[in-house]
Order: sequence, then structure tokens, then C-alpha cells
Amino acid sequence: MMPADSGPWEGLVAAFARIAEAAGYGLIITPTFEDLAVFQRVGASTDVVRKEMYDFKDKGGRHLALRPEVTASVVRAFIQHRPPVPWKSWYAGSNFRYERPQAGRYREFRQVGIEALGSADPDLDVEVVALGWEFYAAVGASRVELLLNSLGDGNCRPAYRSLLLAYLNDHRSELCEEHQGRFEENPLRVLDCKKPACKEAVAGAPRQLDHLCDDCAAHFARVRAGLDSLGIVYTIDTSLVRGLDYYTRTTFEYAGLALDSAQNGLGGGGRYDGLVGAMGGPETPGVGFALGVDRTLLAVQAEGRLESLGEGRQLDAFVVDFAGGDSARDLTARLRAAGFKADRAFDGRSPKAQFKAADRSGARLALVIGPDEAARGQVAIKDLKQSGDQETVAASDVVEEVRQRLGH
Ligand code: AMP
Repeated sequence: MMPADSGPWEGLVAAFARIAEAAGYGLIITPTFEDLAVFQRVGASTDVVRKEMYDFKDKGGRHLALRPEVTASVVRAFIQHRPPVPWKSWYAGSNFRYERPQAGRYREFRQVGIEALGSADPDLDVEVVALGWEFYAAVGASRVELLLNSLGDGNCRPAYRSLLLAYLNDHRSELCEEHQGRFEENPLRVLDCKKPACKEAVAGAPRQLDHLCDDCAAHFARVRAGLDSLGIVYTIDTSLVRGLDYYTRTTFEYAGLALDSAQNGLGGGGRYDGLVGAMGGPETPGVGFALGVDRTLLAVQAEGRLESLGEGRQLDAFVVDFAGGDSARDLTARLRAAGFKADRAFDGRSPKAQFKAADRSGARLALVIGPDEAARGQVAIKDLKQSGDQETVAASDVVEEVRQRLGH
């Protein structure tokens, strides 16, 4: 991504950092590649692990993988460092999956996400879902649908799984080719299959939501009440199972309605109360989400808001100096030290070339020092966004004048 295009990306990650840190989440930076087993343990029967992992042996014969997602690494770090709970972290970075590249689906893609470990409180699910919701609003993705489901837990899932297996066995010949061959390992994935045959065949399948145990039902009711209380609108989607094996109870997804429905998953997550234990740590509940940065940017673009997302990048001032260059050097430094974004031309360019550079830079103000201004110890301030507006001030007052004009 070239600097000209990365403004919205930078704005998006900055918005996410602000929202996560305002809620007590701290930045975690995990390695880009780890022992293959770290990722295998989170979902041996899922496509992400079975088919899409970039794994390789290094020169020491270690079997490693580029991370296909971050939750596994966060849980590995939690088990290794044992921070006090509840432990809340956020992340931003690249993931890698060997998929067929297409619009909105890449082999290297970026995610931002949060994970909260050590509390089974349904209000934490509400906090997590709400932070994702707030993020989409903050970056200008307004056409987002929140889908919500509960997958039960170790208590009620086995009985439901048997019901589903029986149903799928009865309807085996109606399933898509892949699932006719195998579904026993992970029957829930059939509910999530996008092939028309499976979609039709599972329309009458039993749903976990109708078979929750009392504790899971109470948990889900509290999550729903919390979202209602915060005014967050959601749709119950009983077929939402998500790609990874480790989810329990609450699962959710944010769908971008401005995008083509085949690739409109902007992000999603859920509760994973068994994952820390399954990865060899002490039994610890957890909940989190991962949001696709590339997909979210596509959604913001489809809604025509990409430019405003990149506005934080804009220069405040461009110094145009055709009186020797001392002012360009010193005034730019003064402006930057005062917290403004400032740039200048180099190589003693002509006034015309410098004004052109100032326009192209997107700066709000041009600060002009020609021989006359230099002789009088002055600077001309030209508003590049409102043509014709020009004023001359003493060189010593120029930083304060910029502050007043820009309102910060
Ligand atoms: P997942 O980790 O599969 O739950 O994905 C969470 C989000 O990451 C999805 O909703 C997408 O927005 C994004 N994502 C997943 N895989 C890809 C990919 N190959 N290319 C671009 N974005 C992706």
C-alpha cells in the first residue's frame, strides 16, 4: 500500500486504538509466525487450519506457521505470561491464509481485534460487541448488520450435536458434494455452508438456540438485554456458527450491507470459554473479536466515506520560501515542534513550483516568505482552501496565528 492510499488505513487503526484503549484494553504485539501446533490446537477440523495455513520448516527443522488469526497467539501469550485477570488486550496486524484471492479475500490481510480473558460475565460479551459496533460507526461504516447467535457450551452442545448428526444423516444425499462425503467431524460447519444444496437441506435442521441448557439460555438473555439497553440493533441468526472450532455461547458477526453478500463479513467473534484449557492453560473463559481491516475499508469506500477517514493525515501548513530558505528550514521546525503537520519544498525551487507543491500537498495554509516579507520580518498566510484569503503577520506571531486559524 503506497502512502497516497494508506491514509484511511491509518485513520481506521487509530480509531480502533482509541476505542479499545478508552475501554481499558492494552496493545499486544504477537509474533508473525509461531509453532504450528499453536494454531493447530484451535481448530484441527476447520478450513483455516486444514487447508489455508502457510506452514514451513525453518533451518533448525522447526515446523512453523504464519499466523492465520491472532486469538491463538493471544491465548498462547496468556498461558505463558499469566497476567492477572480479567486481562483485556487489543491488536492490529497482518494474517495469512492460503485462499483463492478475489475481491475482499486476500492471502495477506489485516485485522484489528480485542480479546478479554478471565471473566464469564455476559456483560463482558456486551462490552465486546458494543466496541465493535462503536468502531464501525466511528469509521463511517453505517450500513452494518449485527448477527447474533449462541452455540451453547460443553453442557448442551453434545446433545444438540447428536440431534444435528441424526438430521444430517437423514439428509446426506441432499448436501453439497464436500459435505456428503464428511460432516461427522464438525457437523456445525454444514449449517454455515454457502452452497445452495446445503442451504436448502439444512433449512429444517434443529438449531442450537432451541436446545440451550438453562445457564446458556440465561447468559444469552442477559447479552440480549444488554445490547437492547445500549440501543444496539441485532438480528438473531441461528445458522451463524463461524469458522473456528473454539466458540462457545455467544457468537456474532458484523455484515457490511454495502458489500456484495458473498464477501460481506466485516468481522466477527464470540466467547471461547474452553480455549485456554484446550491449549494447556488453566480453565479460563474468554471473549473477543477480529475485524477485517481490508473489508472494512471496502465497506467505508462503498458508502463514500473513505476520504474523510484519511483526513487525520492532512498537512496543516506548507512553507513557501523564496527568500533564501532559512525561514523554510526554521519555521517548519517551529511548526512541527508546536504539534502541527508541516512540510516545505527543497532545492531552491521557483515560487511557482513551490505554490504548486503546496497545493498538491493538501495543506490547509501556505506560509509565504518572499524577499519583501523577509526584509520586514513578516510571513504571509494564505488559506489554500478559501482562495483569495491572505494576511500578513509578524514572523514571531505566525505559529500562534496558525493555531488560531486551525482551532487547535
Ligand atoms: P475470521 O478470523 O475468519 O473470523 O475473519 C474475521 C474477519 O477477517 C472477516 O470477517 C473478514 O473481514 C476478515 N478476513 C478473513 N479472511 C480474510 C481474507 N482472506 N482476506 C481479507 N479479509 C479476511
